[in-house]
Amino acid sequence: MIKDYQADKTLRDDYDVCIVGAGPAGITLALRLAAGGWRVVLLEAGGHEYTPQSQAFYKCTSTGLELYAEETRLRYLGGTSNHWAGRCRPFTASDFSVAPPGEMPGWPIAYAEIEQYLAAAMDIVDLPAGAEFHTMNAGLKGGEFEADRFLLSPPTRFAQKYAAALNDTSGLDVFFNCNCVDIEFVQDTGRVGAVLVSDYNGQRARLPAKHFILATGAIENARQLLNSESLRAAGVVSKDGPVGRCFMEHLNVDLGTFILKDGEDTESRQYYTTDAFVAEYRAGKGNVSTAVLADVQTYGRTAEVKHFLENLACEMGVASKVEFIAKFSCPGDGVIGTMIEQFPNRQSRISLLDEKDELGVAKVNVNWVVSADDRHTIRCIGAEMAKQFAEMGLGFVKLNDFVYESSVPLKMAPHAHHMGTTRMAASPEFGVVDADCKVFATDNLYVAGSSFFAKGGASNPTMPLIQFALRLADHLNARLRAASGAVV
Ligand SMILES: Cc1cc2nc3c(=O)[nH]c(=O)nc-3n(C[C@H](O)[C@H](O)[C@H](O)COP(=O)(O)OP(=O)(O)OC[C@H]3O[C@@H](n4cnc5c(N)ncnc54)[C@H](O)[C@@H]3O)c2cc1C
Repeated sequence: MIKDYQADKTLRDDYDVCIVGAGPAGITLALRLAAGGWRVVLLEAGGHEYTPQSQAFYKCTSTGLELYAEETRLRYLGGTSNHWAGRCRPFTASDFSVAPPGEMPGWPIAYAEIEQYLAAAMDIVDLPAGAEFHTMNAGLKGGEFEADRFLLSPPTRFAQKYAAALNDTSGLDVFFNCNCVDIEFVQDTGRVGAVLVSDYNGQRARLPAKHFILATGAIENARQLLNSESLRAAGVVSKDGPVGRCFMEHLNVDLGTFILKDGEDTESRQYYTTDAFVAEYRAGKGNVSTAVLADVQTYGRTAEVKHFLENLACEMGVASKVEFIAKFSCPGDGVIGTMIEQFPNRQSRISLLDEKDELGVAKVNVNWVVSADDRHTIRCIGAEMAKQFAEMGLGFVKLNDFVYESSVPLKMAPHAHHMGTTRMAASPEFGVVDADCKVFATDNLYVAGSSFFAKGGASNPTMPLIQFALRLADHLNARLRAASGAVV
């Protein structure tokens, strides 16, 4: 049953699982666990619809690159699925098997762990059963870029699609206008005993359960953990420990422009780095999309483009293959978009401020930074792309100077894919949750969503995080069954 906590405070004291946050991760978990026969409560801070009052609790400060942190997530029933675009690309085995450069390890599990949930996750976001991820165009011939493969969800709005299920599923209570404001950890037992919840008048209540799952998005998951005084007192989290670190985005770098050679197909194209590219350059993955502008523009920058491409071609030893540069004839120009992997980096982080919000939860600062390894990825993708275009005779690419010159500030935007603040690792030295998504040094506190991504790859995060949510639901189902003595 869906209830407004502002008006109805009938919380039970015998929930098996308490899930905080009703976005794609929380809703998937709640329905799967309730279908398993468990008593589940799903807490949503926002209302049934958007309200400025709830959204204001997402305000945070920023000391790094501009993340638009408040604008790129929604704080009401359905979460950020209320305005996601629905682009779905599955992870692949190499996302899990290849470690990132630097000190942080990659995933402690194999892709097979979530691959088995792909069909179910596709169904949840309304992708047709058995649909193949599309090949939109041919790849580039050098072996560094293949055609990207993705499918578009309608996009599924979770609160609308699952409204009836959330209301009617037996054993499931959903409370909106119900803010989680604290996590009560009991050091002697190693267990979370309860979460504290509050309505918008600041009236607090204690909500006990057997297991707890934080599913509030990557910034808020870290914030909830860091904010809990009892978790800090027990040493489970610390102000300068791993919680909040390794915040990752997908980098939307403005690589530059291109001009197609006469007669080339003007359809948009989507390329994706191959595993061979990643291995050869020790670089991250990336999607590169090319779109020709509707209006063909006269190019006043011909000399500059020629000069740049001549230099690039000579540097790369492909001068003989780009002789058409001399026959440059202004066929039209286009823009290059990207979605590039950012590697985990401890300096890119969420941290707690002294100032508190109206409900007594500490506010956070986001320090989103890219590393030298990320600049290397951007440079390799840009240069290889330009080289391939030239070698295949597709057209002329003009890269922006910051692509190959790291001293020039990047022109870049985020993709609204927040990842990595409670990363999964084999040990607490490198992460916050274990392979089961359970917070290290706790017995019953779990995390869901892309905050535990150990690596972001260059796949859109929502379908994979749903695969992980289904895996976590199965883990908890088994755990609860074992504890109740049921035959599994
Ligand atoms: C414009 C835009 C386009 C996007 N397009 C794509 C795309 O094409 N493909 C893709 O894969 N991803 C896309 N995304 C990202 C996608 O929206 C997120 O990956 C996804 O919504 C994350 O799901 P989640 O459940 O982890 O978190 P969220 O959807 O953010 O849900 C978190 C929930 O927790 C609630 N909450 C927060 N704090 C509390 C609290 N203290 N107590 C109780 N509840 C709380 C929130 O109100 C919210 O409902 C896009 C995002 C944006 C902004």
